[in-house]
Amino acid sequence: ANGIHIAGLTKTYIGDEGRKVALHDVDIDIAEGDVYGVIGLSGAGKSTLVRCINGLESYDKGSVTVRGHEVGDLSKKQLRDLRRGIGMIFQSFNLMPSRTAAGNVELALLDSDLTAAQRATRVSRLLDLVGLKDKADSYPSELSGGQKQRVAIARALANNPKVLLSDEATSALDPSTTKSILKLLRRLHDDLGLTIVIITHQMSVIKQICNRVAVIDHGTITEEGRTFDVFANP
Ligand code: ADP
Ligand code: ADP
Repeated sequence: ANGIHIAGLTKTYIGDEGRKVALHDVDIDIAEGDVYGVIGLSGAGKSTLVRCINGLESYDKGSVTVRGHEVGDLSKKQLRDLRRGIGMIFQSFNLMPSRTAAGNVELALLDSDLTAAQRATRVSRLLDLVGLKDKADSYPSELSGGQKQRVAIARALANNPKVLLSDEATSALDPSTTKSILKLLRRLHDDLGLTIVIITHQMSVIKQICNRVAVIDHGTITEEGRTFDVFANP
């Protein structure tokens, strides 16, 4: 019931150059506990897919259900709750430069009903979880790319999501930092039972961490299955 099920999803943008089909008849089944990769080139439709999953974008046709709810049918309040249940991380980290690591993580807890003391406890537990306990008081400008992404991961997990959506989260990192971030995601998957969706254009990322993969090309899923099978060398 905690999976993400996408069936017949079609999304068209109407722009200056007319109609642009961003997603065409997309079927994807992400089961609870998957580390599921979606790989494709720039412009393939990956961001559109992410925005359809978290309800930031309406769609023309088909169905997107997250934890049993049809995203297109949710009210504004229900959408907020849905998004709280989906942690998101990005290529650009999206940290606030004026706040420390701890301050950035705390941002995700400000509209919870926790007291300041409870928030502080939770923030330090979250920073501990991502291996950044000693950087709580550092500002983003004082952190490496990998450390910034760890702060962003801590923030994404603040409200105990069951799903973590990673949108090109390692694309700005060098290979060894990428490896350590993927190792962290794998550990969070194992320890917290997180379902993880990895959006990337990097094959190496898929091979390192994903048990299943969908290949998207010009808005169409061209291959889908276990990573081992899809990328098996013939
Ligand atoms: P990706 O994330 O894989 O790079 P996108 O989902 O951003 O792909 O884009 C898929 C296609 O939809 C591209 O051709 C892109 O130009 C187009 N597109 C994306 N967003 C918009 C928009 N807001 N208006 C018009 N076209 C868009
Ligand atoms: P609550 O906030 O509901 O009181 P806790 O924070 O005490 O719960 O954590 C309950 C369980 O969730 C613990 O087993 C803990 O390891 C785990 N946990 C802690 N932080 C997170 C997190 N960010 N995401 C998911 N699970 C977490």
